[in-house]
Amino acid sequence: MDIDLSADDLAFETEVRGFLSENAYTNGANPEEWRMKWFEKAKEKGGWDVPKWPAEFGGPGWTPNQHYIWQKETARAGTPWDMPFGLSMLAPVLMAHGSQEQQERFLPAIRAREVNWCQGYSEPGAGSDLASLKTKAELTEDGKHYVVNGTKIWTTMAHIADWIFCLTRTSDAGIKQEGITFLLFPMKQEGVEVKPIITLGGAHTVNTVFFTDVKVPVENRVGEEGKGWAYAKGLLEHERTGIAGISNSIVALEGLKKRASSVKRGNGSLMDTPSFRSKIAELEIDLMAVEYTELRSLATASAGTAPGPESSILKLKGTEIQQRIQKLTMEAGGEFSAAWGGINSGPDFARAGMGGYMSSRVYTIYGGASEVQKDIITKKVLGIKSTKK
Ligand SMILES: Cc1cc2nc3c(=O)[nH]c(=O)nc-3n(C[C@H](O)[C@H](O)[C@H](O)COP(=O)(O)OP(=O)(O)OC[C@H]3O[C@@H](n4cnc5c(N)ncnc54)[C@H](O)[C@@H]3O)c2cc1C
Repeated sequence: MDIDLSADDLAFETEVRGFLSENAYTNGANPEEWRMKWFEKAKEKGGWDVPKWPAEFGGPGWTPNQHYIWQKETARAGTPWDMPFGLSMLAPVLMAHGSQEQQERFLPAIRAREVNWCQGYSEPGAGSDLASLKTKAELTEDGKHYVVNGTKIWTTMAHIADWIFCLTRTSDAGIKQEGITFLLFPMKQEGVEVKPIITLGGAHTVNTVFFTDVKVPVENRVGEEGKGWAYAKGLLEHERTGIAGISNSIVALEGLKKRASSVKRGNGSLMDTPSFRSKIAELEIDLMAVEYTELRSLATASAGTAPGPESSILKLKGTEIQQRIQKLTMEAGGEFSAAWGGINSGPDFARAGMGGYMSSRVYTIYGGASEVQKDIITKKVLGIKSTKK
């Protein structure tokens, strides 16, 4: 694939850099005010606040190279805090399968970052085998509401979410992928209870969510009853592409090299030692290979096609690379990384070393575990059929 930048691309790159530096955070500014202003300014640029949305829904309609430039430049310059659930996961589902009324009702608030969404897919007995989900949605006799009962788990940011997009079971007939229905409902209502889960990295990001007789109007169902699995799968492909985080890894790797150069070893630095250097070189080569895969996926996306099973390659390799960067960062901090946030006499970056490493364990689990991605790649990308009878 040709990724040489044309004169137009170079002009775009300059424009993006200009925008990012003009709107960069300045010390002392109110972070939330800055964040909202940033998105407003990005919107004025012609849909830069929703870079992945198609032009017909107000996105910028960029070429693959423009997306590539945007990702690289924003990874370097940093952008305001944002949540992917509404913007990058639910929005494409609504655009493809939602009614016009749902699109008009939900998309503007998602775009304005006014409503936080969370993703209610996984359950205690349904993670990798998501189609086994049991949260029940029963239609009331008058056909006006669903009544939802069940439990979701690992629900990221459920404690601050306003709404949830939720997979529910409306029928047990047929194979388990049938009878799944995609519902939208508010989190702050009677019958919804959120309990925190503290992760290995010491953070509260995930939760268990219990539903007891939660009433959901039928107009909050996306698409047809029982067809939710097809919509959910499409959403996962968007999620997996996002999780890969290639541009961020490129920036993180540069940072790691600088850090390793600041750690003394003998007469030189850690970066001069052959064993550490070769780990960095292997990482860099793998990262370049995934970067090319991402470019192929961007080309597909900008041709208007949703990401396909190849998003599993990005998810698998991209998350492994993120973990390797965290592991080498911890290694570069040496024994000081073990202090984990305490006061120590080692390099500053070492303080976050252990926490970052622990937190990075989840990358190869959420959004579909690595083993499951390998299964998808085997069947859908390589076309290898199972020999199991
Ligand atoms: C930090 C974090 C945030 C998350 N956020 C959300 C969220 O917001 N919303 C949401 O719905 N879910 C969320 N999840 C859930 C996530 O998608 C699941 O954890 C994931 O799909 C794995 O499911 P599981 O945890 O039930 O593990 P299991 O499915 O029980 O898997 C356990 C192990 O068995 C392996 N395994 C399972 N099946 C196979 C197979 N067929 N072949 C080979 N090996 C297999 C897995 O790879 C894994 O190593 C989050 C998870 C984490 C850790």
